[in-house]
Amino acid sequence: MKDEIVRSCVDCGSTRCDEESGTYPHFCLSQHMAEGEKEALIAAYGDEENYKIMLNAAQIEYEGYCKLCRVEETMEFARRMGYKKIGIATCLGLIREARILTKVLRANGFEVFGVGCKAGEIRKTAVGIPAECENLGEHICNPIYQAKMLAEAKCELNIVVGLCVGHDSLFYKYAQGVTTTLVVKDRVTGNNPAAALYNAEGYYRRKLFPQKGQE
Ligand code: SF4
Repeated sequence: MKDEIVRSCVDCGSTRCDEESGTYPHFCLSQHMAEGEKEALIAAYGDEENYKIMLNAAQIEYEGYCKLCRVEETMEFARRMGYKKIGIATCLGLIREARILTKVLRANGFEVFGVGCKAGEIRKTAVGIPAECENLGEHICNPIYQAKMLAEAKCELNIVVGLCVGHDSLFYKYAQGVTTTLVVKDRVTGNNPAAALYNAEGYYRRKLFPQKGQE
């Protein structure tokens, strides 16, 4: 079974993809690019908006490395991109955090428009979700509407705050314009999904490797 795995960067683990870091693995994705692919990618980064995003992201990383927190980085990105109007797509379970973020953004001169996940008040059964799911709340999370409302409000940067797995997928699918994620929801770890990975060989071992209890 293991021989059938298609190897990729996750099987390499290099943090520096260059010759100085040692021998490339035989499956190295850098070494097996299709002809002309690198040039096509460089051209894509030459698109005016893409270039601006890449340049600002790189400079913020360089100048703020281990100094700016993610909230600060997000605001700095918005400033450098020239964005004035920020849209927030929030889970209502994190409305408190979204409201604090709104205060912070407004205190820093941004205009903010936010849409909570239950906006639209559509019953779960109305979209074919089994009635039993309404025991956890009768309305769907409504990421398509969130994306639509932020677009209609002409938000220049969308910030995702704690949308559920899958709901976030639909938001990203329908979002117009530039989107970034500030908070990733995890109801078990205090919105820190990496905590489960840090414990994957410890307390979370049996939960995450159910077949063997080890890997
Ligand atoms: S690009 Fe090559 S060297 Fe870099 S992580 Fe992937 S496989 Fe490893």
